[in-house]
Amino acid sequence: MDYVVRLDQIGKDDLRIAGGKGANLGEMLKLGIPVPPGFAVTTASFDLLMRMHDLGKKIGLIISSINVDDTAKLLDASKEIKAMILSYEMPPEVRLKVDEAYKSLPDSATSDSSLPLVAVRSSATAEDLPTASFAGQQASFLNVKGSDELVESIKKCWASLFEPRAIFYRAKHGFAKSSISVIVQKMIEADKSGVMFTADPTTGEDVVLIEATWGLGESIVGGEVSPDSYRVDKNGKIIDIQVSNKTRMRVRDQASNTTVELDVPQDKANAQVLTEQEILNLAEFGLTLERHYRHPQDVEFAIENGKIAIVQTRAITTKGKTKKVGIKGNQLLKGVGASPGAASGRVRIISSKDDVAKINKGDIIVTTMTSPDLVPAMSRSAAIITDLGGRTSHAAIVSREMGIPAIVGTQQATTVLKDGQEVTVDAYDGIVYDGRIEVDIETPVEVHAGMTRTKVKVNLAFAQGLNEIAPKADGVGLLRIEHLITQFGVHPSKLVKEGKQEEYVKLLIDGIRPIAKAFSPKPVWVRTLDARSDEFKNLKGGEDEPQEANPMLGWHGIRRSLDEPELLKSEFRAIKKMHEEGLTNLQVMLPFVISAEEVQKARKIAHEVGLPDAAKIGIMVETPASVMIIEELCKEGIAFASFGTNDLTQLTLGIDRGNERLANLSSTFHPAVLRSMKMVIDTCSRYSVETSICGEAGSDSEMAKILVKYGIKSISCNIDAVDAIRMAVHEKELEISELT
Ligand code: PEP
Ligand code: MG
Repeated sequence: MDYVVRLDQIGKDDLRIAGGKGANLGEMLKLGIPVPPGFAVTTASFDLLMRMHDLGKKIGLIISSINVDDTAKLLDASKEIKAMILSYEMPPEVRLKVDEAYKSLPDSATSDSSLPLVAVRSSATAEDLPTASFAGQQASFLNVKGSDELVESIKKCWASLFEPRAIFYRAKHGFAKSSISVIVQKMIEADKSGVMFTADPTTGEDVVLIEATWGLGESIVGGEVSPDSYRVDKNGKIIDIQVSNKTRMRVRDQASNTTVELDVPQDKANAQVLTEQEILNLAEFGLTLERHYRHPQDVEFAIENGKIAIVQTRAITTKGKTKKVGIKGNQLLKGVGASPGAASGRVRIISSKDDVAKINKGDIIVTTMTSPDLVPAMSRSAAIITDLGGRTSHAAIVSREMGIPAIVGTQQATTVLKDGQEVTVDAYDGIVYDGRIEVDIETPVEVHAGMTRTKVKVNLAFAQGLNEIAPKADGVGLLRIEHLITQFGVHPSKLVKEGKQEEYVKLLIDGIRPIAKAFSPKPVWVRTLDARSDEFKNLKGGEDEPQEANPMLGWHGIRRSLDEPELLKSEFRAIKKMHEEGLTNLQVMLPFVISAEEVQKARKIAHEVGLPDAAKIGIMVETPASVMIIEELCKEGIAFASFGTNDLTQLTLGIDRGNERLANLSSTFHPAVLRSMKMVIDTCSRYSVETSICGEAGSDSEMAKILVKYGIKSISCNIDAVDAIRMAVHEKELEISELT
C-alpha cells in the first residue's frame, strides 16, 4: 500500500487507507464538488510506525490496565501513549513521500519559505461512519508551513487517535482495532465558514440547515459562537434567515502564522454572513452530496473571496425521533434544543477542566461552550446546557449520538443557573425550568431488539450483565462453553475418564441455564467444546493433552468431539435436560466443520442421547472447506451456518491469527473472505438455512453493513457493540429499502 496518495486518486471505497474524511474528500472531487487540493498520508504509514516499534502491544497493555470511566486514569493513559508516539521519528520512507507530495501541491515552489500553508487533519478509519461520527475526536492543525512542521503535525494527528475522549468513545462503542490516516490540504484563507446539514439533525425535518460565521469554521464546531442560521427547502428556496450576534472569530495572524481569536468588528457582528447566492450554491452542493450518498449529510465549508470550498462531508448520525407531550413550570432560560429529550437533575457549572471530576451521574452539565473534551463526563450526565454553540457544534452531535438531552446557545446559562440548583431540561423546545417537573414523553422510537429485520445477537462466555443485555439482543449467536470449564479448573476428559460425566453435565447446566433463561424464548446457540490442545493444558488432567506442532490446525472442534464422543454426549445431555425444563430456545452449534459426514455423525450421537428436534443443529463456517461444500452441508440439513471469521480469515489467508508480526496483513475485508461469505449466504438462502456471523468481525459496523447487503440473517457481536451494530444494521436496511 502507498504511504501517500493524492486526494483525486481516492474514492469512497478507500476508507481503510485514507480514513473516512479522506475517502469522502476523494469522492467529492469525483462529483465535481470544490474541494481544496491535497493528499492523504495513508493508514499504511501509521501502521508502519506501529509495527516498527511494536506499539500495538505496548498501547494495548496500557489501555487494558485501566477502567475508562475513571477520568484521571484515562487522562494519564492517554498522555503516556501520545508521548510515546511523538517520541518516534516518522519512518524515513514515509517522510520522503510526504515531502514529495507537499512540494507537488499547486502554487508550491521547492524552497521551504515558499511552500503553501496547509491544513492537517486526522482521518480515522472508524470516523465518519454513519453509525458513529467521532465528532471532534481527532486533531486538526491549521496554517501549517514547511516540511518539519508538517511532519510534526502529522505525528500529532497519529497521537490523537489516543486522545482520552477517543479512547473512551472507542471503548464504549466497541471499535477494537483502529488505524488513522492524515489528510493534508491546501489552506483556505476563509473569510467566512460554516456547517451545513441536509436534514435538520434535531427534528429530522427534510430541509437544508446552514450555519455560518466570520473567519475560520473552528469557532462553530468548537461551539464558541452562536452562528447565523439559514434554512433552504429541498426545491432550493430559502425559507428562513436568522442573523445572530457573532462576537468572536478565529482568523490567521499573518505575522505569527497562528490561528488567533478576535472580537468580530462592530459592523460585522450583526451582519448576515452568507449572501443569498452563497446559501443557494451551498444547498445545491449539499443536495448533490445527499443524493450521491443516499443519506443526509453534514458538510463543512469555507469561503475565500466569494469562492466556496467544501472541506468535509459525512452522514448525519442521528435524527430526532421522540416527541414531548406537555410540560408546565417556571421557565428560567431558553436556548436551542440540540439533542432531543428531557431530564431533571442538579446543575454543575463547569468553568475549567478541573471541574469535570465533580460531575456525578445524573447531574446537568452547564458550561459556556460544549467542548468535545467533556465527552467522558457527558456520558455520566443527565443533560447538557451551554451558553454558546449551535446545533451543529461537534459536542451537540456527540450528545445526540449518546442520546443525552442538550440545549445550546442559551447565552447566559452559566450566569443564570447556580451550582447545585435543581432544574428540568426540555431539550425538545430548548427550555430550562426551575425544579424537578414530570415530563410526559411519547414512547420514543429507538432502535431496539426485534426492530431490525436482520437479527442482532451477542456472543457470550459467562452469565454476566444478563439483565442489561438480554432485552437489547435478539439472542445469543455464540455461547462459548470453554470458559465455564476453565473456571471449574478440571479438564472434562479427566472427569469423563473417571466416570464423572454427571459432574460435567451439571457444570454445563449451571453455566448455561441462567443465560438460556434470561434470553428465553430468544435462541441461544451453544457451541460444542472447541478447546485447543494447548488451551486446557493447565487444567487438572490437562497434562494428558497431546503435544501438537500447530494446535490451531489440530485436534479441536467437531473433529475432537467425534473422537471423544462421551464429552459430546455430556454436552447434548445437558442441553436435553434444559429443554425438558422448558428452555427450548437452546440450540447446538458445531465448530470447525470440514465435512457433511461430521454433521451426520454428530446428529447420530444427538439421536442416541435423545436430544429433541427443537434443539436444532447448525455449524460454524470457519474453514475454507466448509465454504466450498456449503451446498452439501445445507443438503445435510444444518439449521444454520455462522461465520467464525477469526478462523475463516486465518485459514483463508494462511495467516496465524495469533502472530503479531502478520496482524497488518490479516483482514476480514480481504476479498477472498468477503467472497467466501457472500457465496455461503447465497447458497444458504436457497436452502432457507439461517446465516450468521460470530467472529470478531461481527462487532465491526462496516462489516455488519456489508453482510446486511449480502443478505445475512443475523449478526452476533460483542456485548459492548450491540447498540452500534443495531444502528448500522438499521441504517443499512433503511438504505436498501429506499433503493428498492
Ligand atoms: C471464530 O473462529 O471466528 C470463532 C468465533 O471461534 P474462536 O474465536 O473461538 O475460534
Ligand atoms: Mg474458531
